[in-house]
Amino acid sequence: MPHSSESDPHGFKRRGLLFVLSSPSGAGKSTIARKLLAAEAALDMSVSATTRAPRPGEVDGKDYHFVDLERFRAMVADNAFLEWAHVFDHRYGTPRAPVEALLAAGRDVLFDIDWQGAQQLHQIAGGDVVRVFILPPSMEELRQRLVSRATDSVEIINARMARAANEVSHWDSYDYVLVNDDVETCFQQVRTIFHAERLKRSRQTGLIGFIRSMMKTG
Ligand code: 5GP
Repeated sequence: MPHSSESDPHGFKRRGLLFVLSSPSGAGKSTIARKLLAAEAALDMSVSATTRAPRPGEVDGKDYHFVDLERFRAMVADNAFLEWAHVFDHRYGTPRAPVEALLAAGRDVLFDIDWQGAQQLHQIAGGDVVRVFILPPSMEELRQRLVSRATDSVEIINARMARAANEVSHWDSYDYVLVNDDVETCFQQVRTIFHAERLKRSRQTGLIGFIRSMMKTG
């Protein structure tokens, strides 16, 4: 994984973060991701590829790269994914090249991926990955949110509820677990985590140089 060369005002270089947000669909993750991207200038979203059909309003290349199964398989064969997984009846994957380019350019990268993706990213990028899981206040509330979104049929909503229970069962493989009772509060919590993780000593790769020169001038 290439590392960030971005410096802070003191000249510390730091390693870029791979910031993962997971949750059952309907728990508010996309709203929080959108708010975080708007608030954080050095953060970019990883746009996944998927074999599922676009929902109304979804834009190819922005929400997802919508590809057919043949194309997806070719990308797997070319090692073009950092991670990929079967989710519902479809395949989803994180294209490798854009993420590597962003990290090399000193950016942090946000991922909206499931627990399988979070696990795979953690295996390949370990300490550079921060995994945040967002829970709905209750399963009933989750169903309400899926129904009011009105983009999916009852069958799909039932399948998503079953899938949600499975997704929630992986809560303990995350670094942080939050309950989204109130979207603004939850967003502020996610932002606090993001800021604190950026400041971790292990990510400030230029600290030794800074401290040496600081001691010289004392
Ligand atoms: P949706 O179809 O509702 O957009 O997404 C379904 C699920 O797939 C969500 O839990 C989302 O986080 C997950 N997902 C989206 N993109 C990826 C990806 O690139 N990799 C993995 N592993 N999961 C993804």
